Amino acid sequence: MHEQLAPATRAVALGRPPREPGAPVNHGVAFTSTYVAGGEVSYARTSNPTWEALEEVLGSLEGGSALTFASGMAAVTAAVSLVPVGGVVVAPRHVYNGTTGLLDEMERAGALTARRVDAEDTDAIVTAAEGADVLLLESPTNPMMEVTDVEAVVRGLRERYADARPVVVCDNTFATPLAQQPLAWGADVVVHSATKYLSGHSDTLLGATVVAPERADLLERLHTHRNLHGAIPGPMEAWLVLRGIRTLHLRLERAQATARELVARLDGHPAVERVRYPGFGGMLSVEVAGGEAGAEAVCAAVRLWTHSTSLGGVESQIERRRRHPLEVATVPVNLLRLSAGVEDVEDLWADLAQALP
Ligand SMILES: *Cc1c(COP(=O)(O)O)cnc(C)c1O
Repeated sequence: MHEQLAPATRAVALGRPPREPGAPVNHGVAFTSTYVAGGEVSYARTSNPTWEALEEVLGSLEGGSALTFASGMAAVTAAVSLVPVGGVVVAPRHVYNGTTGLLDEMERAGALTARRVDAEDTDAIVTAAEGADVLLLESPTNPMMEVTDVEAVVRGLRERYADARPVVVCDNTFATPLAQQPLAWGADVVVHSATKYLSGHSDTLLGATVVAPERADLLERLHTHRNLHGAIPGPMEAWLVLRGIRTLHLRLERAQATARELVARLDGHPAVERVRYPGFGGMLSVEVAGGEAGAEAVCAAVRLWTHSTSLGGVESQIERRRRHPLEVATVPVNLLRLSAGVEDVEDLWADLAQALP
């Protein structure tokens, strides 16, 4: 029955206790480390009822089987564990800087080889994937807002390599399952930093993988990875993200409307050299006049926008990404990443306009 419901309805209706007279409408936070012997699960590193409620909702929205992790990076690490020792991973040049850092670190340790590609060049991605074990996509990319044609990439991989194609992983943090479902385009695994839009309130860290229904083998491997490496979420964190997902569609609708309005006003503004916006979602990047100092000055001058890292919260956030040493050098020094929140758009614009040089 639930497959026929719209995503917004599933975000609200799934992950609830059975409807019985007197039953609570929300799952509790299952604070337990172990279970009475004789049941399906014996220890809480393997599973937890609060995770399962969240996994039911997220799995339904993405169209696969979800596993929750301690953070987005724990989920990315689990996905990268699908690369065998000495194997090859292909990834866009601009992805979340933690992912870049992880691949660099593993490459230095001799664990894998990472091939970098242009996220928007379908042919280059398919060509680079020859003999690769995992293709780790992220679309739109953080913070350059490049968009990969995931469907065309998967088609190209199937045509060229058939069964020898790499496992396709797609970080769907920026888009959220409401904007795109990479599994429907043929990706094998979706990765999330639920810390961002899914949670939506900048109050918790959590990550997730979602595996395509036909890849039970990968689900099994990721589950084993979670169980043995132990990067599990706390039940309270899972509960907070589940609570956040209930309003994901409302928050995203507002964030997107605001982002579009800001893009229209920033485009052509004398202090703005370039606006990057993928055309959907609540994230945008702008390159401002005055180089690094000009960008830093904007961050120091905003009063309503929060100068902070992270994104996808109800409060609007702004950040110069190159302030992080891990950020790749091809990200412009004057690039500011903006995460539109759910405040009034005129207040947000007024604050931004007074902060621009
Ligand atoms: C933040 C982020 C991550 C890492 O998630 P954490 O929850 O901070 O560990 C991974 N991918 C993308 C695209 C992100 O924005």
